[in-house]
Amino acid sequence: FAAEAGLYTTSDQIILLTPENVESVLVNSTAATVVEFYASWCGHCIAFSDVYRDLARDIKEWKPALGLAAIDCAAEENRRVCANYSIRGYPTIKFFHAFSQADSSGASLRGFPRDVSGLRHLIINKLETHTHNWPPACPPLEPTSQAEVDRFFETNSVQHLALVFEEANSYIGREVTLDLLQFENVAVRRVLNTEKDLVTKLGVTEFPSCYLYYAGGNFTRLQVNFEARTFYSSALQRLPGVVRSGKPPPVTTEVLTNNTKEPWRPFNRSRVYMADLESALHYSLRVEVAAHTVIEGQELVSLKKYIAVLAKYFPGRTVVMNLLKSVNSWLQNQQGDEISYEAFRAMLDNSAQSQNTALPEGERWVGCQGSQPHLRRYPCGMWTLFHVLTVQAKSMESTDRSSPDCKEVLSAMRSYVRSFFGCRECAEHFENMATEVVTEVSTLQSAVIWLWSRHNRVNNRLAGALSEDPNFPKIQWPSPEMCAACHTVETNGDHKWIKKQVLSFLLSYFSSDRILTDYLE
Ligand code: FAD
Repeated sequence: FAAEAGLYTTSDQIILLTPENVESVLVNSTAATVVEFYASWCGHCIAFSDVYRDLARDIKEWKPALGLAAIDCAAEENRRVCANYSIRGYPTIKFFHAFSQADSSGASLRGFPRDVSGLRHLIINKLETHTHNWPPACPPLEPTSQAEVDRFFETNSVQHLALVFEEANSYIGREVTLDLLQFENVAVRRVLNTEKDLVTKLGVTEFPSCYLYYAGGNFTRLQVNFEARTFYSSALQRLPGVVRSGKPPPVTTEVLTNNTKEPWRPFNRSRVYMADLESALHYSLRVEVAAHTVIEGQELVSLKKYIAVLAKYFPGRTVVMNLLKSVNSWLQNQQGDEISYEAFRAMLDNSAQSQNTALPEGERWVGCQGSQPHLRRYPCGMWTLFHVLTVQAKSMESTDRSSPDCKEVLSAMRSYVRSFFGCRECAEHFENMATEVVTEVSTLQSAVIWLWSRHNRVNNRLAGALSEDPNFPKIQWPSPEMCAACHTVETNGDHKWIKKQVLSFLLSYFSSDRILTDYLE
């Protein structure tokens, strides 16, 4: 993969400015834009890049109203752009209002905070300085009143109106409003604690708190584990009837059956199915690897590593485990620089004693079924497979007397994805993340956590993408409903994972004895 020269990559949800796109991004845009002008050699920029990346992930739902961009002023080709914007020191952050003109050089955010929540608040302050030319995608951010709420349903056809009651210095109401701006059928308004009429009418005593208000004056309190931004936002995004703009509404299982040729297999959404794991194995070994008639060099190394971890950790049916072990011994004994796929396939299909191949032919998706034939399925199966393998490696730790290689599974996954995973863009994104394994993973449990957190990063990036199945929205997983103990809030109200709880949740969720064997042949 081509090395990215700057500090950010295309997978960071940050617009990478170039001389070619700078005008279309910054001039007369319908969204406001925050730009970081940096130099890739500057230590402060390197230190700040993690925060900027986190910020991009944190406010990616705000995109139609506010974009985040960056440009590497150290790159020869970008120097003229940076000079035109009078950049002298790095990092410099500038705010460009929506509909900025070509002669605007943006407002410098001098002394900007170096943390995500501070930056988020500063950006809201800046958004509010739009005196005219308000970004069309940005909902109103000012506090609402009883009179406005009374008239709300006369002019709005949304199903849910969420009211965030809060004190004047709180940003939660505005953050939640922006977090929901890409969702239909829900609107959010903030109400200050000083808005006595509404506070009294709803009997509000806690600030912040969130209420759902309906046409006709009915209301109900939004139930969340913590009175905090992410808890409000994710609960509101999952309300009945609420969908991402432009996405079809989720449909019921009965309707789902009509969209795929196969009959729908009812399943439990909070369990792992062996049928998915075997289908993923089938597809990877009989379809993806098969695309390489001769497997040599790095690809051969990757295949050996992949089969080795499967032979060691795949918690499957005895026939499948025996098959993987014999394919593994055969493969590790291949001394040459290359093997033919045909020879590999012969081993894969013939090792079983019985007539049938030990690893069933064909795909039979269960937990990974999609509502359309092109959604979910194989990539879902691969994520599940590797989560299971990292968990299995951790749970076999005490029985494995040799000192375990904590990076073994992730390293096999990385090489497999690099050599064989058909979605090349996915492979490139994954490779960008996988370089961190070396420094971040030092125990088997940190391998489990690393894969979980990077999968969430991918979920964050893909939420709302075309490949998202509306019936299986990409969430930061596990949701508070699945694991309440996994979530908490920082003192500043930001969401925080309790990693210890997440680890025990993962160890149980993906453990071999909880894998369901329904729908196997
Ligand atoms: P998936 O994301 O596939 O998740 C499968 C199941 O795992 C979920 O149903 C859930 O039960 C569980 N789960 C969800 N999140 C977590 C978590 N954080 N930890 C543990 N379990 C979890 N698609 C792209 O469009 N662009 C990409 O760059 C891209 N990169 C990919 C890289 C890899 C290595 C893989 C395997 C897939 C990649 N994909 C990419 C595909 C994408 O991530 C999804 O797999 C696909 O869109 C199907 O999504 P899904 O809804 O079935 O859930």
